[in-house]
Amino acid sequence: MASLRKCNLFINGKVVKPTGGNYFVRENPATENDFAQIAESSKKDVDKAVSAAKKSFTTWSKVTPSDRAKVLLKIAAVLGKNQKSLAHLNTLETGKPVRESGLVEIGGSIKTLEHYAGAHTQLNGETIPVNENQISMTLKEPVGVVAQIIPWNFPLLLSFWKIAPALVAGCTIVLKPAELTSCTIFEIARLCSKAGLPEGVLNIVPGKGEITGQALVEHPGIDKVAFTGSTSVGKHVMKTASDSVKRVSLELGGKAPCIIFDDANLENAVEACLRGGFFNQGENCTAVTKLMLHKKIYKKFLDMYVKKVKRINIGDPTKPGTEMGAVISKDHYDSVLNYIAKGKSEGAKVVSGGSRPSKLKKGYFINPTVLENVDPNATVACDEIFGPVVAVIPFSTEEEAISIANNTDYGLAGGLWTNDINRAMRVAKSINAGYLWVNTYGGIIPQTPYGGFKQSGIGKELGREGIENYLETKCVNIYTGDSMPKWYKG
Ligand code: NAP
Ligand code: MG
Repeated sequence: MASLRKCNLFINGKVVKPTGGNYFVRENPATENDFAQIAESSKKDVDKAVSAAKKSFTTWSKVTPSDRAKVLLKIAAVLGKNQKSLAHLNTLETGKPVRESGLVEIGGSIKTLEHYAGAHTQLNGETIPVNENQISMTLKEPVGVVAQIIPWNFPLLLSFWKIAPALVAGCTIVLKPAELTSCTIFEIARLCSKAGLPEGVLNIVPGKGEITGQALVEHPGIDKVAFTGSTSVGKHVMKTASDSVKRVSLELGGKAPCIIFDDANLENAVEACLRGGFFNQGENCTAVTKLMLHKKIYKKFLDMYVKKVKRINIGDPTKPGTEMGAVISKDHYDSVLNYIAKGKSEGAKVVSGGSRPSKLKKGYFINPTVLENVDPNATVACDEIFGPVVAVIPFSTEEEAISIANNTDYGLAGGLWTNDINRAMRVAKSINAGYLWVNTYGGIIPQTPYGGFKQSGIGKELGREGIENYLETKCVNIYTGDSMPKWYKG
């Protein structure tokens, strides 16, 4: 145990041990070796973190927006300076290729910080013409102390999608990372402090969802909960937060369709759907999971696709040339393999992958898997698998494609490929999801609002909308007339 890395709490600008003294062990999913001890933050610890955030709110909320923006840029710079070591650490705890840790997690976090630094100019309210004796105006005020709850699939990027807008808006933060991925964000919080973020503005409480996360959502000192994770936990969070009418935004699960019409540029579509399906081991809420192929191009596309899927370089994620790493944990590995077995038992044919790579003896590796001829109502076409499994579904008409795409309680993302602009617009309007790609797939950029329809969530992150999560609108009415009109006769 002595040689394991320790992940503690970060409260009020200091590294703090958990009050109960409890830690659990996290393994490296690519080696199955114990890797770190993670603190279990108790209710008392959450209390301390919320108090620190509350205290710092009184000062941070009064720092001018342009000065807050400068701190965001300093954090971006410090992430850039430490990109290599942070990417390595992130890969040790997630199992994802170090290329993706560097470019997407750290690189994407930097871009998000830079984008929201610019948003300090967007905190303006408006003046509203009412009548000649009154001026009405809106003030945009920070919502207060926010709880941010993060899943394990993009532990850094998804943290900064929340941290950056909250900070520039003037909020202070208590963040709970996923229990499987707490180490890198803990290190980053220390770096933020060194970069000039005042103490108490960003506090990190690692721990279990049912204890630490629950205590945070219940805490009366929290004004808003920003949650990313599964739909089932999201529903529970929403119920818990309702006790004190906390503001809630939810980014939840997905089951993204990608529709390839017979006039599509197949080479481009194959390329984008490879990344769409297997980037981040498919542990991606917007992953292409229902790959829907028009019957006329079904065979041609599938041949081209499978040939390339088989060439994906899976293995040691710390090597720069590795293209796919290990899934997050043993439990998740079992769950993904069970889904593949279920798919087969429901009639799908495995045309690529389907099992662990024989060359890799240790680690939770699963070959990129393609299941073909999947029934649109089969389990693998409906459940979120959250792993490297793509279900291929044939279709004949536009109406049928739309109906299969919408055959889900989720509504997060989707894609479509056609060279017919009218069809592109028609289908885009008909897909019941919050974020769509046409003739491309994947890549969520901070300038664009991202969030789910239906049971995929409430609210938007990123874009102009993303900052609204952290602002309250106050309306102030000023009377400018000389005398007050009389309502009572006397
Ligand atoms: P999860 O099990 O729902 O957990 C998400 C977070 O909630 C974790 O930090 C978890 O802590 C915490 N949590 C668990 N129970 C809680 C409770 N009672 N109160 C407060 N917090 C609690 O999700 P996951 O397995 O980490 O992530 C995968 C899911 O996230 C997938 O469904 C995926 O689609 C979704 N996701 C959505 C988006 C999006 O933008 N829409 C992005 C990424 C992922 P523990 O880690 O300790 O369990
Ligand atoms: Mg959990």
